[in-house]
Amino acid sequence: MKDGGKHINIALFVPHAGCPHTCSFCNQKTISGVGKRLTKEDIEKAAEIAVKGEYDRANSEIAFFGGSFTAIDRDYMEYLLQSAYPYIEKGYFKGIRCSTRPDAIDEEILNILKKYGVTAIELGAQSMSDRVLAMNERGHRAEDVAKASGLIKEKGFELGLQMMTGLYGDDDETAVSTAEKIIELKPETVRIYPTVVLENTTLARLLREGKYKPQTTEEAISLCGKLLLMFREANIKVIRLGLHSGGNVEEGFIAGAYHPAFREMCESRLYFDYVSDIIKKENIKGKITIYVNPSEISKMTGQKKCNILKLRELGAEAKVKGSEAVEKYKAQIKCEE
Ligand code: SF4
Repeated sequence: MKDGGKHINIALFVPHAGCPHTCSFCNQKTISGVGKRLTKEDIEKAAEIAVKGEYDRANSEIAFFGGSFTAIDRDYMEYLLQSAYPYIEKGYFKGIRCSTRPDAIDEEILNILKKYGVTAIELGAQSMSDRVLAMNERGHRAEDVAKASGLIKEKGFELGLQMMTGLYGDDDETAVSTAEKIIELKPETVRIYPTVVLENTTLARLLREGKYKPQTTEEAISLCGKLLLMFREANIKVIRLGLHSGGNVEEGFIAGAYHPAFREMCESRLYFDYVSDIIKKENIKGKITIYVNPSEISKMTGQKKCNILKLRELGAEAKVKGSEAVEKYKAQIKCEE
């Protein structure tokens, strides 16, 4: 095994069999893509494959995802942690990351997590509106998110918060307010998941009864672009935007905002909005060069040059160039004539 190389996360899914909650969007099997119980052997197999490769040990983690890690059977939770811990002790990974419910965090649980090398905890906040949380049968309130976040930070863990857009009863204004409240809790990372309606969920039933209108991909792109910018301005990393492809999401998918390149589409929209605002305000027409950070040229250009084509409709013939002087999510416009 060699050190160096890139950051990796060994993602292990822990489905919550027998979960007492009935969150409107949840179909654990479909989301996790794993129906069987995770074992010590599964963890060792995944870790052994990883440690043979070249990766950055100081920044890599073993991650237990699934959304309810600390709400599963206590003995089983400790068994999973004990199975992963030897790899942390030996320095193969910086720590363990897990995701859980806000009401499944207390001092005792945090002490157990600390003992086994957990360094980052993500909470499925989903919304900071009690009305939206209740309508989606989350079984916790916004104050549980605030309380758990405080405890996690106090104990020195890295805090991650996850939010959803387009839930039953949610709208853009409520989503922006959720993002503002999340920012106040000062998480190190955020994940944003536009809601997808999966087969065998309450949302699927509400949709068929005509009581729920899912967000379109277009609506979600426009909203999530704004949310991305809000978190960036607050120096909070958005480590995921949109559900992962694979994991059988495509199979159970009925409706909602899902695209394998969702983040890229949001970022691309964000650039278009930024540049088109300036063009409209300053009444810019004709040939222009748009400078963006070199890593962002394809996002400014857009898939199939869609941003360039839309700018042409506004009267601007744009070329895109890279400049290290321009920050991510910003652009500079130079008129050519
Ligand atoms: S999302 Fe809700 S219903 Fe699904 S496993 Fe987690 S707590 Fe249970």
